[in-house]
Amino acid sequence: MTHKYHRSCKAHHPYASRTVSTRSQCRTVQGFFDRLPAEVLDMILECLSVMDISVFSMVSKAINSYIMGYVSTQAWRNRMIMLKFHHPASPTQEDCILDHYRSLGVLFKRCTLLLPTKDRLKFIYSKFSQVPCFTMERCTSSPGCLGFSSYGVFLQTLIAGWDELECHRVFNFLCEFTNLPRKIETIVNGKPGASHRLELQIRLFCRNVLLDPWENRRDTLFWLTRILKLWPMVSQARLLFILYGPLLPDGKIGWHEMLDGVVAQCGLWDLAKAVILLYTDIEAKDWSADTLLGIIEEMTVLPEAWHTENTARLLVLCGNNICYSVLASRAVNRRFLDISRLIVFLIQVCEKDGFCMSWPVKMMQQICRVFLTSEDKWSFVKGVESMLSEVAMEMYEVIMAGDRNEDMDTFQSLCSLLNASSHFHTEMVYMFLKKD
Ligand SMILES: [Zn+2]
Repeated sequence: MTHKYHRSCKAHHPYASRTVSTRSQCRTVQGFFDRLPAEVLDMILECLSVMDISVFSMVSKAINSYIMGYVSTQAWRNRMIMLKFHHPASPTQEDCILDHYRSLGVLFKRCTLLLPTKDRLKFIYSKFSQVPCFTMERCTSSPGCLGFSSYGVFLQTLIAGWDELECHRVFNFLCEFTNLPRKIETIVNGKPGASHRLELQIRLFCRNVLLDPWENRRDTLFWLTRILKLWPMVSQARLLFILYGPLLPDGKIGWHEMLDGVVAQCGLWDLAKAVILLYTDIEAKDWSADTLLGIIEEMTVLPEAWHTENTARLLVLCGNNICYSVLASRAVNRRFLDISRLIVFLIQVCEKDGFCMSWPVKMMQQICRVFLTSEDKWSFVKGVESMLSEVAMEMYEVIMAGDRNEDMDTFQSLCSLLNASSHFHTEMVYMFLKKD
């Protein structure tokens, strides 16, 4: 085994035997490393940590080349890159694996320092491409595999501090070698949920490798923008939902849960955070408010119109500005029925999820100002009030028509709607009386 390893070392790096010397050592009679046989230098490298090797790689050009050869050997790659990513024994072991990949990021950042970006990426990719757990649709234990997360921290460490142009290059390079755009095209052109395995693979790859490792929101925004910008708005909405929408326990994206069921806050939180992130593109370099409203409108009818409570919950989580923008754009287009229903469910969500009821009251006041004539204002107020009783009646009918046990949820929803209505009107009357 040892013999084979050394042979492969020699075969791989041309600097193996003679030319290892530093610039300062060249000035002396003979450099220390120059006098070492490659086998001995390899033995020294084996004793060093990944971080130590990374520092060592910056000693001189010759050492740098030697180390690039050293990390290219199959033996080193088997030992350092091909780790077991499945079923780590404990969270501590998980952290160890991620730390190891962070160190590898530093090593490859330092040892490829002298190469142009494209060659750097090619060199690195050639070392990592054989790991099945780093490649979409090749790991047998995904999800639950640490491969993408490890690749993510590696990549993040490698390119931390690179300028935008270089990051664009990295994205293009990844697209070319992972075939990501092709895979995305397949799912955005098919029916939602039809290729659920591929949907999940794309979500896991994009989230773990490109989006989640970043701590700075600007970085995440940059990468999310790269992924979405390749596509027209309808596909962007679809892709955003695949990346951040609720995930079912069986690993499928919860498309149909948005239509029939009521999705809890925790299932929509990631999606809301992603929408907020795009909305905070302050310079509106890539995302104007109109584009975002378009995406939200498209998303909430995928694959068909969502249950209004789900839309309302997403808007509540997205916060005041986004919620107002969606409602105001519907008000401008005089979509009275849509707004009324949405406001009723905003009130319902605030009651169920424990948000302050003065919030929907203020929202209603703000929206009322969007209507210019007193006739429209009156239609709006009347619409919301009628919708409150209409939604209550709908729930009542479901309860009367159905099985008592199955309709427990609807019964609870009706109770909370009645409470919500009472709290909402209390707040409204109080606000009115306070003015006197
Ligand atoms: Zn795996």
